[in-house]
Amino acid sequence: MGRKFFVGGNWKCNGNTEEVKKIVASLNAAQVPSQDVVEVVVSPPYVFLPLVKESLRSDFHIAAQNCWVKKGGAYTGEVSAEMLVDLNVPWVILGHSERRALLNESSEFVGDKVAYALSKGLKVIACIGETLEQREAGTTVDVVASQTKAIAEKISDWTNVVLAYEPVWAIGTGKVASPAQAQEVHVELRKWLKANVNADVAASTRIIYGGSVNGGNCKDLASQPDIDGFLVGGASLKPEFIDIIKSAE
Ligand code: PGA
Repeated sequence: MGRKFFVGGNWKCNGNTEEVKKIVASLNAAQVPSQDVVEVVVSPPYVFLPLVKESLRSDFHIAAQNCWVKKGGAYTGEVSAEMLVDLNVPWVILGHSERRALLNESSEFVGDKVAYALSKGLKVIACIGETLEQREAGTTVDVVASQTKAIAEKISDWTNVVLAYEPVWAIGTGKVASPAQAQEVHVELRKWLKANVNADVAASTRIIYGGSVNGGNCKDLASQPDIDGFLVGGASLKPEFIDIIKSAE
């Protein structure tokens, strides 16, 4: 198996040149476990990708926060997977709940994006997660299974996919899922992958948790056997991101 711990920092639509330089300087100065123990990927807004790429330590990697669903062309405002590859951006976040909710990205559209990005050689952090209403209605597992199915139907190789379980009610709310709640969904996702893809993909695919992860709650979450890392929003802009990276050990 050997699922390497993964910590992603999703900076969302935050920062200016000065702030980005400060965050990079603090990451570059940090003492963290080696790349054999933890894979660290930070995701600045598109416009800062070249700056972060050229100034960030080489053991940390970068991700874009989105990319277009197919080859570029007359798609105003979009950035293609080919462009990210051209800039040596290895990773992309796709299907984030903010895009699903605010920009109406459907699960099918996200599945198409994941497939296209993988086909161009990008690695993908694919986000899924239920809303509060869905959790309260008891449909959490159905929701995340159907979001995962929409991806699974479009791809055959999961090697370059990290699945990020991010309950919508926990994102940016300070309301973190308990370690048991997150572990339970991760186990269900692994069962789903085993039944619907195969046992190897179920055992080897990293399933990371996102939603109000911070320096204080990361250790308990990381101790769960099926939580293979985090996708961190707000706290990834702060010094405590280093503590979250250290929770890999
Ligand atoms: P948060 O965001 O850590 O600020 O809750 C997580 C995410 O949206 O990836």
